[in-house]
Amino acid sequence: MSKAIIAIDKSKSFRVYVTITTDLVQEAVTIHDTTPVTSAGLGRVLTAAGLMGIMMKNPQDKLTINFKGDGPAEQILATAYGNGNVKGYVANPHVDLPLTEDGKLDVGGSLGIGDLTVIRDIGLKEPYMGTIAFVTGEIADDLTAYFYISEQQNTSVALGVRVEPDYHIGAAGGMIIQMLPDPAEGAIDVLEEMIGKMEPLTTYITRLTEEGKTLSEEGLVRELLDEIFAEIPEEYKPEVLETRDIQWNCDCSRERIEQVLMAIGRDDLQQIIEEDGHAELQCHFCLSKYEFNREELQEILDKI
Ligand SMILES: [Zn+2]
Repeated sequence: MSKAIIAIDKSKSFRVYVTITTDLVQEAVTIHDTTPVTSAGLGRVLTAAGLMGIMMKNPQDKLTINFKGDGPAEQILATAYGNGNVKGYVANPHVDLPLTEDGKLDVGGSLGIGDLTVIRDIGLKEPYMGTIAFVTGEIADDLTAYFYISEQQNTSVALGVRVEPDYHIGAAGGMIIQMLPDPAEGAIDVLEEMIGKMEPLTTYITRLTEEGKTLSEEGLVRELLDEIFAEIPEEYKPEVLETRDIQWNCDCSRERIEQVLMAIGRDDLQQIIEEDGHAELQCHFCLSKYEFNREELQEILDKI
């Protein structure tokens, strides 16, 4: 389970959402058997989804982030709920790419050129959907642009995933700073200066994890927040409002997969029964397999 903190600065100019998701990303990477570049991509999207999930009001509110491009990884998709549950996948998890010129995992190259779509389902008649073209495909830049263009929100997104040489996740985390209406006059300049000087998030998290072995998960996230805002003037120091959990959770079930089979329609289902006599469906998110034999398929067909 990963901890996230929601804080607001003393001048009430901005809200901060910050989390350390090393365990969550490790779990996803283990399930999907990702390479370093797709571990970084999936980890960043899952971390962002987790933070954007807890930004929603109700536990059942649902958010989907879909990066779809012409690069070899093709697609990274994550779904999160207001209760902190997150799940996600990469269409092609085994993509291997050389590092970029500055020695970074080439997440942008793995996704290529494409679109980011965010869908929010908060129980209204129609879900809210916004799409923008990728800025860099590096995830955080694209989400920052998404908030600005599609939701008219001045927001800054930072995400980091460190993949160790043996492919395990050394550190992962994220931070979203969202400006509130009528911020204090100097707030934006102060934040821009701070963000400009910030080290990569994984550098802070690695150091804190090494130093803070006796701290709880929540203690570590609090320390992370303090370190990032260490130099900021007193009136803009963030104060913790709430601590939340973010966790990997797939809510697939046999009943849901039956719904999928029902949705393909009578004719196609009839054809599967006649030609194959069985069906095996796999959940994209957790890779669980669901098998249906002839009799079970027939029962589903009878319900349509
Ligand atoms: Zn599943």
